[in-house]
Amino acid sequence: MRVTIFGTGYVGLVTGTCLAEVGHHVVCVDIDTAKIEGLRNGVIPIYEPGLEPMVKANFAEGRLEFTTDAAAAIAHGDVIFIAVGTPPDEDGSADLQYVLAVAKTIGTHLQRPAVVVDKSTVPVGTADKVRATIAAAMAARGADVAYDVVSNPEFLKEGAAVEDCMRPDRIVIGADSAVAIEKLKRLYAPFNRNHERIVVMDVRSAELTKYAANAMLATKISFMNEIANIAEKVGADVEMVRQGIGSDPRIGWHFIYPGAGYGGSCFPKDVQALARTAQQYGYRAELLDAVESVNHRQKEHLFELIVRHYGDEAALRGKTFAVWGLAFKPNTDDMREASSRTLLRLLWEAGATVRAFDPEAAHEAGRIFGERSDLTLCEHASDALQGADALVVVTEWKQFRSPDFAKLKVALKDAAVFDGRNLYDPAEIEAAGLAYYGIGRGRSI
Ligand code: NAD
Repeated sequence: MRVTIFGTGYVGLVTGTCLAEVGHHVVCVDIDTAKIEGLRNGVIPIYEPGLEPMVKANFAEGRLEFTTDAAAAIAHGDVIFIAVGTPPDEDGSADLQYVLAVAKTIGTHLQRPAVVVDKSTVPVGTADKVRATIAAAMAARGADVAYDVVSNPEFLKEGAAVEDCMRPDRIVIGADSAVAIEKLKRLYAPFNRNHERIVVMDVRSAELTKYAANAMLATKISFMNEIANIAEKVGADVEMVRQGIGSDPRIGWHFIYPGAGYGGSCFPKDVQALARTAQQYGYRAELLDAVESVNHRQKEHLFELIVRHYGDEAALRGKTFAVWGLAFKPNTDDMREASSRTLLRLLWEAGATVRAFDPEAAHEAGRIFGERSDLTLCEHASDALQGADALVVVTEWKQFRSPDFAKLKVALKDAAVFDGRNLYDPAEIEAAGLAYYGIGRGRSI
């Protein structure tokens, strides 16, 4: 099938590439000319495992094209995806300006029938707004071309986006047109071969499904962080508690890891946006508000542990902290809303210096923070330790899981490790002569 995708970010580029991989002819369109120019020259703007060779192979085969020409891209597609950003507005609700700008462009240029698919995460009722925006733009030029608007939220995870896209758990299609449903079923048939993954529903339910999924996952994380904070107070070890509850199949092992708070481009903004949607309909979503505030507090927790170790904030002036991990989670270079950003800001405000290492996010950190005398971006984990007083682990990259504790003891002047992801065994690390602080590990306090 002929597919057009507006927005060549994490979702648009991965979706477009995977659709091309199974044989569809995909045109990706973006307003970022540098990004499109780069992609045409084999420069992949994001890090996602497995993405680069797939983009290059499908581009070389001519099944995947990149353009800034929206009119030509619209002429190409039988199915036109909207996969642009929906960042939080000032009040936390989703900012729809990019989505509706694309809708207007579609209405301005559409010459033949098409299915327009909302893949961006958008509040309930957005499909109606997209439909109305297309209709208005079409009316303005006196045209009347048939089109359907469908909701098809995306559930891929950064860091495993290609894998998720090629083997989705489920494909949610929210539509009120049988023709549109059939078209999308045909589009997704290659991903739906072995068992039924397509869940068809009405548009509003599909729009809400995406928020419900992210809010549930964020709730699990904040819940576990709440338990961790209680564990710390009462002298229990949350890692024991986690093992004690995860084996209950009603609870399960996923997303019950305490840590330095959730980040990324989705959970923080989607929890907020869902709460704002509820508010607009006269309902106060108390649980969601709590999930958000627990997370805000949790992002400061690593810093609080550091202050606790040194006695007070003033003692941090002039200290140097090695920081392992800047991305909001492993296997991505994405630092949007990352816990590392809160930690670095607080360390800098206290007059400390940071030597940071992340396997993929250094360039992103350089872009965000620019040149500053209190930040050194290091090429190796061991470089970050040079001259450092203590180590803080913020992202659970695999390569940080089993360091040589004896070497850490020699390298770190104050011999202290702050483990924001509970990667280490407190007994082992303390046996090496290092002070250890984890999340919710009451026994070490
Ligand atoms: P992103 O910021 O990585 O990419 C968005 C792209 O859209 C940018 O390249 C931008 O230049 C482009 N764009 C903006 N306006 C445009 C226009 N008028 N025409 C063409 N291109 C335009 O965003 P993302 O992370 O891919 O997220 C996109 C949507 O998918 C969001 O709604 C997000 O919530 C949702 N989502 C994201 C993830 C994720 O893990 N990142 C997962 C599921 C859903």
